[in-house]
Amino acid sequence: MLLFSALVAAMTCFTSHASFSSSGDPWLLTPGPITTSLTVKKAMLHDYGSRDSYFLRINRDVLNRLLAIANGIETHVAVPLQGSGTFIVEAMLHTLISERDCVLILSNGAYGQRMAKICEKIGVRYQTMAFPEDTPIQTDLLRAYLSDHPEISHVAAVYCETSTGMLNPIQEIARVVAEEKRKLLIDAMSAFGALPLDSKLTPFDAVALSSNKCLQGLPGCGFCIIRKSSMEQTKGNAKSLSLDLYDQWERMERTGQWRFTPPVQIIVALHAALEELQTEGGVTAREKRYRENSETVLQGMKQLGLKLYLSEEHQAPIIMTFLKPNHPNFDFTLFYNRLKEKGFVIYPGKLTTVESFRIGCIGDIHQHQLKCAVHAIEELFRELNINLNEELV
Ligand SMILES: *Cc1c(COP(=O)(O)O)cnc(C)c1O
Repeated sequence: MLLFSALVAAMTCFTSHASFSSSGDPWLLTPGPITTSLTVKKAMLHDYGSRDSYFLRINRDVLNRLLAIANGIETHVAVPLQGSGTFIVEAMLHTLISERDCVLILSNGAYGQRMAKICEKIGVRYQTMAFPEDTPIQTDLLRAYLSDHPEISHVAAVYCETSTGMLNPIQEIARVVAEEKRKLLIDAMSAFGALPLDSKLTPFDAVALSSNKCLQGLPGCGFCIIRKSSMEQTKGNAKSLSLDLYDQWERMERTGQWRFTPPVQIIVALHAALEELQTEGGVTAREKRYRENSETVLQGMKQLGLKLYLSEEHQAPIIMTFLKPNHPNFDFTLFYNRLKEKGFVIYPGKLTTVESFRIGCIGDIHQHQLKCAVHAIEELFRELNINLNEELV
């Protein structure tokens, strides 16, 4: 039976040429950049000036759609910024936190740590509450910490900690932060568009997100969704010109335009990607597809004898960390290169304690491609003479 299903997978992968994407590139099973659709790529094939009325209309529509996804049309504003995800996280911390404030950073991985590093660099007052990488943020401990530390004005948390694939309990965190009358800043970079984030159920002051990752656009632009009442109070907080989201917002409100050269192709491509998100059935449908994708990978890897780093209940359907197999023939670089030749790009691990690698489930990829990916890994293990189930046979 097992052999038969492997054979079927082999045939479909071969006959439909599933091993390479529409552009002939390998499928990106990574946390970003991710595989984009042909429609998204084609949207880039035009030039627009920064004052072009078509572009400005698209730009406005992108911002409105992002607000709609967060259910924040009446209460929040969306501000764009050029750069990778880290730029928008840094801009959020720069703009939202004043000299009188102090932010508590909840950390259980590399992206939590990065927020602390940013605060250190830009001189924002902060404290950290660190949890082990395999443990979700504990909200009872957060509540206790906040009642003991009246100096804390803001709390910053990562929704999906991409370094492990950890799903943090963001709704519970938001409830505690609201009950303790503090303000919440969320790094939702690898969650927005695929995991629910409703500003009415998960109250937040600001959320940082990217044009790439689960929105399935191109990398190069970030967005911050900010509560209107907070936005108005942030004037003068930022000590950086290019990362000042207040200045960007104020200018865009007044003129409809960006302050500095807008990444026009990235915005129009994101617009196409947001159309596709809507056609797919919105965030709920996308989450469902990513869940199917991750389930396919997880079951396939388990059969090969690979071990998931997190316990399954804490795993977000975004990216999964597997422990490096303890086999003399397994070398990550070799494995990576050979798998790429077969049409799939995976990602190195980012754990601080043990060796691992990651497989992403996001982007314009579907169960079929992930079945083929599992099949390709199976094949590669055979070629490399790696049998992790040997003792079990
Ligand atoms: C991708 C990501 C970022 C931003 O990383 P960049 O490399 O700067 O794009 C920040 N936080 C999380 C949780 C991420 O997944």
